Amino acid sequence: MNCYECKKRIKDFLNDSLNSKTTIEFVNHVRGCKECMEELSIEYLVSEGLKRLDTATSFNLDHELNDKLNEALSKAKFNRYFGVICGIVIFAVAFTLGLVLSTLFTY
Ligand SMILES: [Zn+2]
Repeated sequence: MNCYECKKRIKDFLNDSLNSKTTIEFVNHVRGCKECMEELSIEYLVSEGLKRLDTATSFNLDHELNDKLNEALSKAKFNRYFGVICGIVIFAVAFTLGLVLSTLFTY
């Protein structure tokens, strides 16, 4: 992912509307790119700050953003892993079923 694509996806990331693959690419990019990380921090500050204007609780946005990045990454990785496992299981079942059926119909 390049900076242009990354910046285009900041809002989607903050709304949790990126798919697993894009989330992993996004997090990997902002972690290694100071400029995009800065842009993400600002967007996060604006969106979260506005939401919390009423509640006078203090918050540590840097810390929270980091948590959000970690959480998004592990969730995305889990989903991808889960998807691969599901794919393998479905393939195995279909393959076995095909084998059973072809054995049944040859006799
Ligand atoms: Zn960048």
